[in-house]
Amino acid sequence: MEFFKVVPDDRWPLRTDEMCFPPAVYSLVHGKVLQDVTMRDTIGCTWQVKLVDRPVDRKIVLGHGWPTFSAAHNFRALDYLVFHLVNNSTFQVSVFCECGLEVVDFTLRSCERCH
Ligand SMILES: [Zn+2]
Repeated sequence: MEFFKVVPDDRWPLRTDEMCFPPAVYSLVHGKVLQDVTMRDTIGCTWQVKLVDRPVDRKIVLGHGWPTFSAAHNFRALDYLVFHLVNNSTFQVSVFCECGLEVVDFTLRSCERCH
């Protein structure tokens, strides 16, 4: 199962301490994923993130651990984050710049190249 989430830009309320999956994803993930999940990036590094399943407002929220994961990969507004559910506790995460190219070197994002 795969889906993507666009990192919100400044016009949206931006909460860097957590991130919600798109609403349509709720029914796909609800009850199928553990509270402690591993985010695996394209170079194979893994990060532990707390996943909160909120039936009250039908939201899946990435909380504790998400800011660290986000900062470590220099996520930017309008990046496309593609989540592939590998098993009930692991997501493979690919990052695409809004220019269309996949981000493979997360440390070089401050250079001249847009991605
Ligand atoms: Zn780019």
